[in-house]
Order: sequence, then structure tokens, then C-alpha cells
Amino acid sequence: MKFGIPAETQAGETRVAATPETVKKLTAGSHHAVLVQAGAGIGANIPDDQFEAAGAKIVAAAPDVYSQSDILLKVRAPADGELAQMRSGQVLIGLLNPHNKPGAEALARSGVTAFAMELLPRISRAQSMDVLSSQANIGGYKAVMLAATTFQRLMPMLMTAAGTVKAARVVVMGVGVAGLQAIATAKRLGAVVEATDVRPETKEQVESLGAKFIEVPLTEAEKELAKGQGGYAREMGEDYRKRQAALVAERIKQADIVITTALIPGRPAPVLVTEDMVKSMRPGSVIVDMAVEQGGNCPLSEKDRVVVKHGVNLIGYSNLPAMAAADASALYARNLLNFLGLMLDMKTGAFNINREDEIVAGSLLCMDGQLARRE
Ligand code: NAD
Repeated sequence: MKFGIPAETQAGETRVAATPETVKKLTAGSHHAVLVQAGAGIGANIPDDQFEAAGAKIVAAAPDVYSQSDILLKVRAPADGELAQMRSGQVLIGLLNPHNKPGAEALARSGVTAFAMELLPRISRAQSMDVLSSQANIGGYKAVMLAATTFQRLMPMLMTAAGTVKAARVVVMGVGVAGLQAIATAKRLGAVVEATDVRPETKEQVESLGAKFIEVPLTEAEKELAKGQGGYAREMGEDYRKRQAALVAERIKQADIVITTALIPGRPAPVLVTEDMVKSMRPGSVIVDMAVEQGGNCPLSEKDRVVVKHGVNLIGYSNLPAMAAADASALYARNLLNFLGLMLDMKTGAFNINREDEIVAGSLLCMDGQLARRE
């Protein structure tokens, strides 16, 4: 098999889908070759010669990578121009934005066999392949670091000869993978942290990190809904949202930094921080809206921009993992290698798309010109 690693073309995408470590593993045993486009690793601090030393062949131009590879490993979904270079039967693995229907249909029409890593079932066997988790973890960390550097006060409490500096108050909304990392990072920096989520089981996780849980009391019907599906949250009703907003508004008013991470797969992000809540914050406060790509948890945040509104800094970077591209790529590339392990026999070199495997079937987006059917 020939694996192709094209350079990513989406603006601001600094990550790469393979590293020298994963190239070495793929080429071990001499069953497979890896073609890396020249410069593909630059954004992640991996020069071509490191890929070469690991066993890859450096190919100058993208069309050669596309035409010569059997399996393409990418970070982002191919742009139209890239898709045009792909051929029927080729395998494509990456973050393919499967909830974007026109994009998914275009991939299907091209005849490629595409695996969207966002669709990976969240079962324990799939943890080592879970791209959303590995990247959200980095995003949660980076969100707090950005907030800390933007905030013109300190995070920890300091007792100095010149007087006491108060600890920053941080509110984290949405306690999935990114939220948990944001809580842990803010705690490490010495902030006082509170957090909230619709899923009641997150209370214990929040408290185990030494933060306080902002609990919205649930009705019996809401308890059922809040359990979510496959580890993901579902959309809550209007009544819940009102009660949540009232409770959260008080906490946000007191907060210096708010990190929002609340997402529902395939749906617009819920609005959790309204304009009135932003107005209630002190000047110089910071909001990092990690849901900005899905419309944002705050209507005032702007995608890929930092703006100041009502005296509050709103950070709306949509690709935080790309700001730590070296580690993000290392984890991403390992996730893909582990995923390939489900289909690739490293001893014989055989590649088999086993649709009986729920992880393979769950992440299959399209094959043979058709979108994969799912419930
Ligand atoms: P996500 O990115 O889809 O959403 C982030 C968080 O926002 C979630 O915790 C969600 O409950 C919360 N949220 C949604 N709507 C909200 C609202 N209106 N108000 C407040 N919060 C809201 O989530 P994620 O980081 O992908 O993680 C989801 C779950 O999956 C977690 O429980 C995680 O531990 C679990 N998980 C399991 C595995 C595995 O077993 N393989 C792997 C990764 C994650």
C-alpha cells in the first residue's frame, strides 16, 4: 500500500496527518510506502529530512501525492481542487466534517472510500483512535493559555509586600474533553474554577478536579434527555435553557474568564452567554468561545478573531489545536495509525475494510459512490 500525506491547504491549518514516528511504523516490514508532500510538516516543526529519515519519500507536488497513493491521510476535508485529484476507490481518512451534507455528498460522488474521524463511536476500544478527544484536550489547554495572556490580571492569588492580588475566577461551560482540560489547566494556574454541563455525571468529574459544579436542577423528563447519546449531549428544552441561563448569569457576572465548549453533534451550538451576560462582566474580562465553528456559545464572538465588546475580550479562534501543531499532530497521527490498525495487517501488509467491526463501520462516511447508511 502507498500512503499519501498531502500538505494541508485550509487557511491556518498547521497540523499534519503523519509524523516521523508514525511513518516509521507504517514503513516497517517494507510492505508499505509513505509519500509526503514537500513541506507538509513545516507548520508542525517537522522538516522534510526528518520524514525522509523515518522512511518516507518526499514528493514535490500535491497532484503526485494524490495520484500515486492508495490511502490518503489528511487533517481536513479536501477542498474542491483536491477532491478533483482523487480517484474512485482511493481511501481517505481525516476530519471530513461529515455533518456538512453537500461536502459529504461530493465525497461520495467522487467514489472515494472515506472515513470521517468525527464519526468514530465513543467506545472504550476506540479511545486510542479518538481524534476529537486528542484535539479537544489540546484546545481546552490552549483556550486557558490564551485567556491568561489576554487577561490583564493574574490567575493565582499572590500575597506580596505591595498587597494581595486576588485569584482569577474562571467559569467553564460544557465539561467534555476540552472543558475538563480547561478546568485542570486553570486550576494549575491558580484560578478559582466553576463549571457546568447538562450531563449530570460531569458533577463528579468537575469536583474531582477541585472545581465547583454549577448545578441546574432537572425535571424527570430532563434527566432522561440529559443522559445524552453515545457520550454526547442532546438539545435541551426552552424551559431548561431559561433556568440554566438564570443560574449561569449570576456566576458569569462574577467571572473574570469564561471558557465555553458546549456542543451538540450536527447541531448549532447552544447560546449560553447572552449579550446581557457579556454586559454584566467587568471590563477586561475574557471569553473564549470554543464552539465558534458551530455558531458559538456567545452570539458576540466572531470566528477567528479577537474582538472587544462592552469592554470584554472575546476570543473566537476556531482552530486552537493548530496553535500547538507539533503536539496536536503527534497525537492526531497516532490516532490515525491506531485506527488503521483495525484494517491493516502489519505482518502481511493486507488491507481489509472489515465492516463487521463497529468502529470501522461507524466511521465510514462513503464507499462505492454512496453515503454509508446510518440510523
Ligand atoms: P462535546 O465536544 O460534544 O461537547 C462538549 C460538552 O458540552 C459536553 O460535555 C456536553 O454535554 C456539553 N453541553 C452540550 N450542550 C450543553 C448546554 N446546553 N449546556 C451546558 N453544556 C452543554 O463533548 P466531548 O468533549 O466530545 O465529550 C462528550 C463525552 O464523551 C464526554 O462524556 C466524554 O468523556 C465522552 N468520551 C468518551 C470516550 C470513549 O469512551 N471512547 C472518548 C471521548 C469522550
